[in-house]
Amino acid sequence: MAKQQSFADKATKAAQMKGAKCPVCGAIFQPILMVSSERSRAGSSWKFNEHRVQVCKCNEKQVYA
Ligand SMILES: [Zn+2]
Repeated sequence: MAKQQSFADKATKAAQMKGAKCPVCGAIFQPILMVSSERSRAGSSWKFNEHRVQVCKCNEKQVYA
């Protein structure tokens, strides 16, 4: 239990140090990796696009929808 608490503390501190704060809602941005797949023109292979998205309370509903 003590371990879990200290881990949570560390995670929170790391997030606060690394994360930028949204000026609108005041939440720390959570960087998440979004993967979208596209079919190539040949039709036989798939192409994957990865991009990082910063999520805060303003856009989390759109991102997770
Ligand atoms: Zn926000």
